[in-house]
Amino acid sequence: MEKVAIVGGGLVGAMQAVYMAKKGYQVDVYERRDDIRDALFVAGKSINLALSDRGWEALAKIDLEEEIKKIAIPMRGRKIHNSDLSQNFQPYGIHDQSIWSVSRGGLNQRLLIKAASYDNCNLYFNHKCVNLDLESNTLYFDHKGENKSAAYDRIFGTDGAFSAIRSRLEKTDRFNYSQYYLKHGYKELLIPATKDGLHQIDPNALHIWPRGGFMLIALANMDGSFTVTLFMPFEGENSFESLDTNEAVEAFFEKEFPDALDMMPDLLETYKKNPTSSLVIIKTYPWNYNDKVILMGDAAHAIVPFYGQGMNCGFEDCSVLDTIMNENNNDWNKVAPAYTEARKRNGDAIADLAMRNYIEMRDLIAKPEFLLRKKIEAAFAKKHPEKWLPLYSQVTFSHIPYADAVENAKIQDAIMDEVMKMENINEKWINQEIEEFILSKLE
Ligand SMILES: Cc1cc2nc3c(=O)[nH]c(=O)nc-3n(C[C@H](O)[C@H](O)[C@H](O)COP(=O)(O)OP(=O)(O)OC[C@H]3O[C@@H](n4cnc5c(N)ncnc54)[C@H](O)[C@@H]3O)c2cc1C
Repeated sequence: MEKVAIVGGGLVGAMQAVYMAKKGYQVDVYERRDDIRDALFVAGKSINLALSDRGWEALAKIDLEEEIKKIAIPMRGRKIHNSDLSQNFQPYGIHDQSIWSVSRGGLNQRLLIKAASYDNCNLYFNHKCVNLDLESNTLYFDHKGENKSAAYDRIFGTDGAFSAIRSRLEKTDRFNYSQYYLKHGYKELLIPATKDGLHQIDPNALHIWPRGGFMLIALANMDGSFTVTLFMPFEGENSFESLDTNEAVEAFFEKEFPDALDMMPDLLETYKKNPTSSLVIIKTYPWNYNDKVILMGDAAHAIVPFYGQGMNCGFEDCSVLDTIMNENNNDWNKVAPAYTEARKRNGDAIADLAMRNYIEMRDLIAKPEFLLRKKIEAAFAKKHPEKWLPLYSQVTFSHIPYADAVENAKIQDAIMDEVMKMENINEKWINQEIEEFILSKLE
């Protein structure tokens, strides 16, 4: 039986382990951290992520959809918290679809448990990959100070944005690599549950406090709390650097997010305790080294989190690779390059879309013109679902390749630009004239 190694037992690595074990390969997973399978964050306070259709499909193919739904909270739209303390709700889908808030640890745990349920899959924790010899396909590990090595037929690099496997490939001929840090970073905070363990605000929405150059968001956890994330520039007027004293932090929240502050009694403690983390975009090409090494998840395509697609895209890597393996009878000479060709363009597309969505989230969603534009689009899409699927729905609630979604969106954007220039568009926002205009443009 072919022996494969999966380096990195995070979300994508654990999922890929299941896919490969299911196909009968002898799988060894190496994870640098401790075993988290017994950790108690299932219903506890934890970092959460938005899971959507691409991720769900990949989970369904390994029979985990139902189990994960039990620990996930549906979010039907964005709840916008404006500066004047007014609120409005913007549904995500035109057919009442949801994205789902799920604990990162809880999800990772269940994927690892599933992988370990196969006799042909071994998990090795506290194994940090330190090198890879591409001649012999041998991996080298540091296991609590001890050196270990093992050779494999095939290696999957799923060791995240700062992948050791990718670092090795970067030194090979004609391997492209770029890394770009945003001027913005993020800090995780918390809105605790009420004394009765209930959510203080609606758990079935993704809460956003858009403030132009920065924003706060909150996603519900199963225990009644919310994981809150502040995204802000590192330096400048409203920045992490400028919030250098307790008074500055408090004054900033009082001015910008007074309603959120009321729900965060431990703000100062959490603010000081939690790190300020950076955001990086990493692009690579190719995502394979011959038929021997394959990069997946953030190791191949680290993107900014503003479309909630990093993990979903990584999960889609696993399900698409599975399809390509089936189509090519597991012939890796064909599978490996076909995987790169199928995924690279989509990785680049979602990287760009995610950057674009940052501006939308922190700024545009609070602007009346933007809201009107979305309202017109949604009304038209509801009436003509076969002709128009809004970009957000293409990305989040469909399996249209991300790169194709970008192309479709260019056409839609051009039409909507014209619609928005029409006289008195505010009043006649959707009528026969506009409907016919859009239909004629689509032809
Ligand atoms: C603030 C924030 C919010 C996000 N929100 C969302 C969201 O809502 N929805 C979404 O889809 N995505 C989201 N993402 C993106 C998502 O977190 C990543 O895309 C996802 O975690 C990628 O999974 P991965 O398994 O490829 O990498 P990782 O999750 O980084 O896992 C890599 C694993 O490899 C291990 N490892 C690293 N180096 C080594 C080594 N040398 N040897 C052995 N093991 C190693 C690590 O310990 C880790 O377990 C968000 C990201 C951030 C930063």
